[in-house]
Amino acid sequence: MDKLDFDVIVVGGGPAGSSAARMVAENGCTVALIEKEKEIAETVRTSGVTWISDIKKFGIPEDCYNPIKKFSFCSPKNAVVIEDQVAKAAVLDVRKTYRFLASRAESSGSQVFVSTNVSEVLQDSNGNCTGVIAKSGERQIQFNGKVVIDASGFASVVAKELGYVKQWKKFGVGAEFEVKTEKLEYDNWWLMVGQEYSPAGYAWIFPTSKNTARIGVGVGKPDSDVDPTVRLNELIDNKKGPIKDLGEIEKIEFHYGLIPNEGLSRKTVYNNVILVGDSAGQANPLVLEGIRYAIRFGEVAGRVAADAIRNDNVNETALMPYEKEWKKAIESKINSAVKVQNRWVGLSDEEWDKELSIIEELTADEFLDFIRADFGVSKMVKLATHHPKMIVRQLFNMVKGT
Ligand SMILES: Cc1cc2nc3c(=O)[nH]c(=O)nc-3n(C[C@H](O)[C@H](O)[C@H](O)COP(=O)(O)OP(=O)(O)OC[C@H]3O[C@@H](n4cnc5c(N)ncnc54)[C@H](O)[C@@H]3O)c2cc1C
Repeated sequence: MDKLDFDVIVVGGGPAGSSAARMVAENGCTVALIEKEKEIAETVRTSGVTWISDIKKFGIPEDCYNPIKKFSFCSPKNAVVIEDQVAKAAVLDVRKTYRFLASRAESSGSQVFVSTNVSEVLQDSNGNCTGVIAKSGERQIQFNGKVVIDASGFASVVAKELGYVKQWKKFGVGAEFEVKTEKLEYDNWWLMVGQEYSPAGYAWIFPTSKNTARIGVGVGKPDSDVDPTVRLNELIDNKKGPIKDLGEIEKIEFHYGLIPNEGLSRKTVYNNVILVGDSAGQANPLVLEGIRYAIRFGEVAGRVAADAIRNDNVNETALMPYEKEWKKAIESKINSAVKVQNRWVGLSDEEWDKELSIIEELTADEFLDFIRADFGVSKMVKLATHHPKMIVRQLFNMVKGT
């Protein structure tokens, strides 16, 4: 077996792993970024919606996304459109973006290993992780590292092998077609809610260019046993709701994926080990979006790991600044968003029709803060006490928990 030594081993070449590896390298440590697929983002498992302010902060180039400035919602008997002056949301070209992030990690000095599948962990006599074993074709490689960052997404391979975590029990399953459309309002997204679209989740149309879009269905497990792929084909075949306005649809590519939905239930730091991105459950539970958290907290994980190595102490306490930083940034927002999610999961079709009438009362900025789960305390108090519409005040009082 080949043996390779690095300061840090990052498992998973998604947005969390690439961002972590880049920060490790930029902070002067050696790092291996290990991805099991033949290429970065060979398989797309996400719809790629995110926010232009975050994209700009991360330095992602403009040709990696399609801007969105109209936000449309429909329920069985209602529809609302919230229109903004400038585009603040975006649908990413997922392959281009993820490959950009990985190549930036490589340019910073990370060594990238593709087609390399991590299957085992190495442990010292105290049970602490000292690296991983991976298979690349016929070759077995032992990667020794002082810190291992588990950025393997939903699978959480490292943390699971170490016995630190079990398979997620509450999660979202999504099925989606990238399609070519005859007609498309390409700066307008659709979220479709109600039993017919998804009994515990939502369906979507996210434009990716002037004549391409992702049409998908997400279903919460174990809340519903609906198969999202079956439901998606039914919606497209029957041209339900706004899908009929797309005219002829040609399916180009199928995407399928899983995303944890247990709020922030996991411990994310152990001796020599950090969990980040989906592996840590870092997603906005309202719409189950996690890309911006994966990038942002991947960077924090990489920086904290490099600091710990420089200080020659990589135990749990030394790595804890990572968990403290990300929890301080999003814990209370995620907890508020979980309350909204719990409300949404239980809505009947008639209640969804009414919920859309509340959403319609929000300005574009209020709506974006809401859907992004950007529930800062002062903003929430303002909406709960001063919003001109009582139904909006009631909604935000519920989010605040009063
Ligand atoms: C259907 C669906 C739609 C979504 N839509 C959105 C959206 O619109 N916006 C948004 O922000 N988020 C969305 N998400 C969530 C988003 O995709 C994740 O939060 C994000 O990808 C997390 O990034 P990550 O780097 O943690 O994990 P991933 O992107 O899952 O990357 C993990 C990587 O690890 C690799 N890996 C796994 N096991 C091993 C192994 N044993 N050895 C080596 N490598 C391994 C995988 O191949 C993968 O490349 C969606 C998720 C799903 C399922």
